[in-house]
Amino acid sequence: MTKVAIVTGAARGIGAAVARRLASDGFAVALLDLDEAGVQEGAAAITADGGKAIGLSVDVSDTEQVEATVAKIADELGPPVVLVNNAGITRDNLLFKMTDADWDSVIGVHLRGSFLMSRAAQKYMTEQKWGRIVNLSSTSALGNRGQANYSAAKAGLQGFTKTLAIELGKFGVTVNAIAPGFIATDMTAATAERLGVSFEDFKAGAAQAIPVRRVGEPEDIAHLVSFFVSEGAGFISGQVVYAAGGPTD
Ligand code: NAP
Repeated sequence: MTKVAIVTGAARGIGAAVARRLASDGFAVALLDLDEAGVQEGAAAITADGGKAIGLSVDVSDTEQVEATVAKIADELGPPVVLVNNAGITRDNLLFKMTDADWDSVIGVHLRGSFLMSRAAQKYMTEQKWGRIVNLSSTSALGNRGQANYSAAKAGLQGFTKTLAIELGKFGVTVNAIAPGFIATDMTAATAERLGVSFEDFKAGAAQAIPVRRVGEPEDIAHLVSFFVSEGAGFISGQVVYAAGGPTD
């Protein structure tokens, strides 16, 4: 039976690349995002390539929407046994300028969103006695100026990952986190724009400080997700892998 995977924040960037990769690995994929047109386009492209996919609009920080969407995926595609918690936003500011809304929205999407999605999906994984959850952390979890909200959320996701790994292991469910460094997406393009530099210059500058001398691409992260959700990765759980083109400490 075709296994079903859910990828959040799949309209573009890392999530879109992960959805394409999991489809080519043979999963039926539910692409979730606030951007409905984006996920429907992504799902149509996967279907045109011979894969199986649906695109659904959801705010991952909204309990009712999450519950309804995961149930709909189970109805339409089958029990979801892979979940990639990738949806994310940044609202960068130095602490003294950071608003309540900057804090709440970032914690809401990354932490509450991953919690709600995982709680809804674990039901199917534990019933199937097989599952894979992959959470998107970040090198910012180690601390990054102007990102108190984001780094707290990304560090929080690492504790969340380890705890779920402990709770769900006996059901055949592994839970791991990927902490990317600089990946070329709209998110990093927006940071370049905020800093007033061209994205090309921003990427070139970042690459100088990365041992492999290039920034990451969404496919670099999709490759690691593909590994974590594979059958053979069943003895690897509760891990955080930094994918940053070099060591991070
Ligand atoms: P991106 O291009 O900004 O894509 C993020 C996607 O998440 C967008 O399509 C966005 O939709 C969606 N999203 C935001 N809030 C949502 C919500 N409440 N419910 C559902 N979907 C929502 O970002 P990316 O660079 O691919 O990043 C993907 C993940 O990797 C994030 O968790 C990010 O923190 C993490 N990460 C990225 C980097 C990097 O360098 N790019 C590094 C480390 C970690 P809308 O456009 O409609 O808002």
